[in-house]
Amino acid sequence: MAFESLSERLNKAFKNISGQGKLTEKNMNDMLKEVRMSLLEADVNYEVVKSFVENVKEKALGQEVLDSLNPSQMVVKIVHDELQVLLGEEDARIHFKKQGMTTVMMVGLQGTGKTTASAKIANYCKNKLARRVLLVACDVVRPAAIEQLQTLGKSIDVEVFTCGPETSAVETARQALAYAKDRQKDLVIFDTAGRLHIDEALMQELQQMKDLVVPDEILLTVDAMTGQDIVTVAKEFNEQLSVTGLIVTKMDGDARGGGLLSVRSITNVPVLFVSNGEKVDDLEEFHPDRMADRILGMGDIVTLVEQAQDKLDIEVQKKTAERMKQGVFTFNDLLAQLGQVSKMGSMQKMMNMIPGINKVAKNLDDEKMNSQMKKSEAIILSMTEYERENPSCLKASRKNRIAKGAGVKVMDVNRLINQLEQMQMMTKMMSGKVKLPDMAALQN
Ligand code: GDP
Repeated sequence: MAFESLSERLNKAFKNISGQGKLTEKNMNDMLKEVRMSLLEADVNYEVVKSFVENVKEKALGQEVLDSLNPSQMVVKIVHDELQVLLGEEDARIHFKKQGMTTVMMVGLQGTGKTTASAKIANYCKNKLARRVLLVACDVVRPAAIEQLQTLGKSIDVEVFTCGPETSAVETARQALAYAKDRQKDLVIFDTAGRLHIDEALMQELQQMKDLVVPDEILLTVDAMTGQDIVTVAKEFNEQLSVTGLIVTKMDGDARGGGLLSVRSITNVPVLFVSNGEKVDDLEEFHPDRMADRILGMGDIVTLVEQAQDKLDIEVQKKTAERMKQGVFTFNDLLAQLGQVSKMGSMQKMMNMIPGINKVAKNLDDEKMNSQMKKSEAIILSMTEYERENPSCLKASRKNRIAKGAGVKVMDVNRLINQLEQMQMMTKMMSGKVKLPDMAALQN
């Protein structure tokens, strides 16, 4: 996960001063030295680090902080607020036209995740903002870029417009505009060509498209894994095309995070989204305040809850909750819940957002947990409907048959039955059907 080592180092720096009772200029300077080193090591731009540390120092040496009851906490707050300033003080979103068609041109170097991000944003705008979206395949340079966009479009049920690789990007864009107008689309997203490096030909093509489309937004994808290169690329694209927003991709990798921390303050272009995986819904709205929380290891519970709301099937949750209220929890309920958990995606990613638990998240093995869940699912799927609803009927011969069917050991079946029994007990307690003394009796 990005920012992992930066979080660790910053927390260490704060710990040193928090143990020292009174804050002095000397221990403050030591701490600031540590903060400076942490940021440089995370690959944050030198100039950005310099002014960041100066700002923190100026505020932290203010008399109010030194005299406050808990000066070290005040310093953490100052660092938090300055991080937020770096990342952009307000949430930035796509500006939609009040009426008619909004146009978005996606630009970026090849391999930064532009085509994937085009589909992710289309998906987001369709589902969250109820937009009628058209994706336009204007990357006629990279082989298979058109097919890639078509496949992605199909998976999110968004129409993709193409004139094939023989037609120029500008001509494709011209025809797409007329097509979108005809079909009353209200958002058109143009996926454009990238190159491995910025060159004259690329910029000319993009400029021509810009002149034709006059886009409401020009969004640039930058790859978090390329560190400070983000800044160089963003600066150049911005100078030539006046970029309106950034999408920082591959934040799920082990990027040190410096690029994201530098790019806003150097280019003054806001970050709109971060992309953190290869799936179409691995896209997060960017909130500077929440990102500052995450960098300081304070988790990001708000984003977690929002993702849960988006991804969980409310009907399934309601039904299970209803049954639990009646004190019922069977293998069918467990199966439904396993399905919901796997929809939430990476456990490690989820736990990273929970304050306190994020420190242990890095030790979690997503693959192991996934294979455990798959095993549990296979066991339940090998049961008959009667067995799933009446687990008490599971005696030796049935267990043998189920284990064989799921390709696991009887021991695994027993373990799952035990887990279900524990959940049933909890459910009964919550529904008031079993009182605490009964629990004690049961354990004896
Ligand atoms: P383009 O050349 O800029 O259009 O790049 P693509 O959209 O084809 O993406 C290049 C590769 O990066 C593909 O394999 C994508 O699946 C992958 N990719 C894109 N975004 C992300 C991301 O946020 N995280 C990870 N891990 N991979 C990504």
